[in-house]
Amino acid sequence: MSRLQRILVTGGAGFLGSHLCERLVEDGHDVICLDNFFTSQKSNVAHLLEKSNFELIRHDVTVPIWLEVDQIYNLACPAAPGHYQYNPIKTIKTSVSGAINVLGMAKRCGARVFQASTSEVYGDPEVHPQPESYRGSVNPIGPRACYDEGKRAAETLFMDYHRMNRVNIRIARIFNTYGPRMHPFDGRVVSNFIRQALAGQDITIFGDGSQTRSFCFRDDLIEGFLRLMQNEEDFTGPVNLGNPAEYTIKQLAELIIELTGTSSQLVYQPLPQDDPTRRQPDITLAKKHLQWEPTVPLRDGLLQTIDWFQQVDIEQYRPPTPNY
Ligand code: NAD
Ligand code: UDP
Repeated sequence: MSRLQRILVTGGAGFLGSHLCERLVEDGHDVICLDNFFTSQKSNVAHLLEKSNFELIRHDVTVPIWLEVDQIYNLACPAAPGHYQYNPIKTIKTSVSGAINVLGMAKRCGARVFQASTSEVYGDPEVHPQPESYRGSVNPIGPRACYDEGKRAAETLFMDYHRMNRVNIRIARIFNTYGPRMHPFDGRVVSNFIRQALAGQDITIFGDGSQTRSFCFRDDLIEGFLRLMQNEEDFTGPVNLGNPAEYTIKQLAELIIELTGTSSQLVYQPLPQDDPTRRQPDITLAKKHLQWEPTVPLRDGLLQTIDWFQQVDIEQYRPPTPNY
């Protein structure tokens, strides 16, 4: 395989996708970023437009497209609960039809294809921490199902294309990741708390704040993506990518209060339905096959994220585009 590749990144204008595109462009690859801007905006990749090895296509991944590429990273899908529940039918179509379309392209081109799966495939887990062998506890008819079941079906499609058509696949199960360029109004816990803290508003804890999450800084995650995609051991995954350091939501709120020096107060609101109580990746497989583990402590990653939120004009960010 030649070192420089033609690489398609679906969802490439999003939070993770834009950082991935940036890294691939820096490494000299020919990068095609495909996005319908449902939960993102061109400003995330505007700085790449002048590069001769970067191309931007406005397109919806549920609609087939004919491109010639060597690698595909399939990230197109709203990721925050508020975004994916905005139009749940579209969310599941994006996961399922999007997977079918990228897999068809990979099969035709002989391309290697990466799927951005999620810790949500474990649902509200009964096993802790979660290894890849755990099959999950997902409510198939709840408000999160459009996302969770869509991602589970996409994993099924990836494995079946691999077994039946020998498509070279890679599946990463991503745990909560944060960093600069998160959508300020995506309703996710890190963006909400930082935005509220910087504005001196109440910090909204859902439930009693004892539920846990494990937060990975985006640079660590993107490194994991590249190692999985470049791995020549024929290691398909699924592999957990996330930071095993586990925090309660209340601890996260208190840390953000400390780091921003805000006078914001904690307020408690009802816990959303099917909100997972605990989440922590078992990253044994990633360590073994990818020699990967996160290096950025939560405090350092949050400081970089807070710095970014202070610099951007968050009024420029749109809520999800209507009619998707
Ligand atoms: P994001 O919302 O910032 O990025 C998703 C991108 O996909 C956006 O640019 C959006 O406009 C685009 N998109 C959505 N539907 C599309 C469609 N039908 N056609 C074309 N483009 C479409 O979210 P993110 O956090 O960058 O997540 C990227 C991927 O990683 C998603 O697949 C998500 O499920 C997965 N993931 C993220 C996390 C996390 O913590 N950030 C955790 C688990 C999984
Ligand atoms: N959460 C919260 N306050 C907020 C936003 C989220 O307490 O303003 C909680 C949410 O209920 C969940 C956790 O933070 O328990 C993480 O939520 P997020 O939406 O970031 O991601 P999830 O891991 O649930 O997909």
